[in-house]
Amino acid sequence: MASQEEIFKKLVSHCKEYGFVFPSSDIYDGLGAVYDYGQNGVELKNNIKKYWWDSMTLLNENVVGIDSAVFMHPTVWKASGHVDAFNDPLIDNKDSKKRYRADVLIEEQIAKYEDKINRETEKAAKRFGDAFDEQKFRETNPRVQETEAKKAALHARFAKALNDENLEELRQIIIDEEIVCPVSGTRNWTEIRRFNLMFSTEMGSTADGATKIYLRPETAQGIFVNFLNVQKSGRMKIPFGIAQIGKAFRNEIVARQFIFRMREFEQMEMQFFVRPGEEAAWFEKWKQTRMRWHKALGLGDKKYRFHDHDKLAHYANAATDIEFEMPFGFKEVEGIHSRTDFDLSSHEKFSGKKIQFFDPELNRSYVPYVIETSIGVDRMFLSVLTGAYSEEKLEDGETRTVLKIPPALAPVKLAVLPLVKKDGLPEKAREIMDNLKFEYHCQYDEKDSIGKRYRRQDAIGTPYCVTVDHDGLVDNQVTIRYRDTMQQERVPIVRLEQVIAEKLSMKNLLKTI
Ligand code: ATP
Repeated sequence: MASQEEIFKKLVSHCKEYGFVFPSSDIYDGLGAVYDYGQNGVELKNNIKKYWWDSMTLLNENVVGIDSAVFMHPTVWKASGHVDAFNDPLIDNKDSKKRYRADVLIEEQIAKYEDKINRETEKAAKRFGDAFDEQKFRETNPRVQETEAKKAALHARFAKALNDENLEELRQIIIDEEIVCPVSGTRNWTEIRRFNLMFSTEMGSTADGATKIYLRPETAQGIFVNFLNVQKSGRMKIPFGIAQIGKAFRNEIVARQFIFRMREFEQMEMQFFVRPGEEAAWFEKWKQTRMRWHKALGLGDKKYRFHDHDKLAHYANAATDIEFEMPFGFKEVEGIHSRTDFDLSSHEKFSGKKIQFFDPELNRSYVPYVIETSIGVDRMFLSVLTGAYSEEKLEDGETRTVLKIPPALAPVKLAVLPLVKKDGLPEKAREIMDNLKFEYHCQYDEKDSIGKRYRRQDAIGTPYCVTVDHDGLVDNQVTIRYRDTMQQERVPIVRLEQVIAEKLSMKNLLKTI
């Protein structure tokens, strides 16, 4: 069986070969950690965005959307804390000259302890069979206990160093844990330095005094600075939310995992404004709602978990991540943060404008508290593709690569395939396309054998293929072939839409959240 690393490599080349993701400026050998979406990628990405947008703005009558500009007044980033505190602790290996995030190196070490425990447990489960009591084993096995203790100690030490912003201690942890550079294999580390992640540029010509401005590193601030505009123009009452999808930019120094960590990426963020004191309950509610949104896609409930933050950002009083099991381990796809009144209060202070809500029920004004849900479109895209990618051995000994993308998100919904290029079959196929194209993205394909055409559609995740044959000209039936089961069924053309509609419908998907 292929290792996870090999599968990931295959997935990356699959993305390029089948028009999902290309390196940016490919003919110039690419630009680090910047990617373009191809003809299939853009469809999948748009469908993911629609799934999120509709789940926010249709399913919640108190959530509305905005679309704010990438460029913002430079003081926004002073007020938000990004100018002073948006940085990563970086460490270099002197032999390989590779740079790493110190916190990530340590997190990976913690994950190694976890893996060790899981491996021990799996081995024991196999040995003991049905009689295996996992909880008891984890609580009593000396080897597991020992690793568990090491993990807990490291975890506590790491959390303290992060919260104290103690860079020397972070470095000492790396030394004490004997963490080596994956490239050189040595422990020859530099000191840790902090590096601000914001890109800056200039607005206006230098002659008349250009202003340094930043490319937004998150979309959230566009929501905060529009709080009053939306609240007043929409006559919104607390609690309410503002959602936004848009590009964000971070000068990530360590950017190696394909579209997992990009320098230009897209976020889907929702800020939910609540009464002070009610934030804990709302935090819990949004945590659960967001997890249901992920799980509704059917990629496998076990692939998700919550991960509470060890270090809270300067603005937060509670924070958790939703992690997805990528080929390189469980990784953050979405962050849910209780941001207190930090942002609005800070913008009050820096702008001199009163940013408050008069609550008629309480008969007083206050600065609302905020629960944020923040998910990266690109990481979501990657989680859908890794969850969907599968290589299957077929009965005839061949292998098929199939993307089992949730049908409502699939780039192409239906392929229409005339058995041969003559005898009126292409015309009949076009007729079917013309009927369905207003609702569904269909693809017509008449080249090569039917088998080859099926494989091409499997590779881009098309849930349904419809073959038009000679009998169909007489009985007005077609053969529908299902992507996941490869089963085939004869259906009257008039019933086709009904057969495919249920699974393709975004509405039905939204209903399962
Ligand atoms: P990480 O710790 O992985 O750098 P983060 O905690 O800084 O991520 P947030 O600031 O919480 O991330 O951003 C919210 C979401 O935006 C993340 O959950 C992720 O999906 C997405 N995101 C953040 N940085 C990137 C990036 N460089 N490339 C792609 N997506 C990103």
